[in-house]
Amino acid sequence: MSQTCTICNIDKQLSEFYIRSESGNYRKDCKECVGKRKIELRKKNTIVNKEKLKTIDKTQVKTCSNCNKQKQLSEFSISPANKTGFYSWCLICSRKKYKNQKKIYVTLVFQKSSHLIQKYS
Ligand SMILES: [Zn+2]
Ligand SMILES: [Zn+2]
Repeated sequence: MSQTCTICNIDKQLSEFYIRSESGNYRKDCKECVGKRKIELRKKNTIVNKEKLKTIDKTQVKTCSNCNKQKQLSEFSISPANKTGFYSWCLICSRKKYKNQKKIYVTLVFQKSSHLIQKYS
């Protein structure tokens, strides 16, 4: 079973197409083209956002989705690939998260190595 992708016009196996979750039918554009389009969209968004960010008023407030506090935009990291142009978490929360991740990583490594020590001693 194969079908022709409407974007690249190449005849491909059905396994090369995503299935639409709403209808259960195969998409008309192949996985490769869907992936390419996503990258293009992201690039476009990034350019648009970069322009927008130049003119944005950083004293506007935004609610951090982690601590739910309203903070000025200057309290958020810029993320041009993000729809809003900013991370949804404030700088303080992002920093905390980063620290926690580091902690988890260290714990994991420690557990792994202590496991190895037991094994080989
Ligand atoms: Zn294609
Ligand atoms: Zn926060």
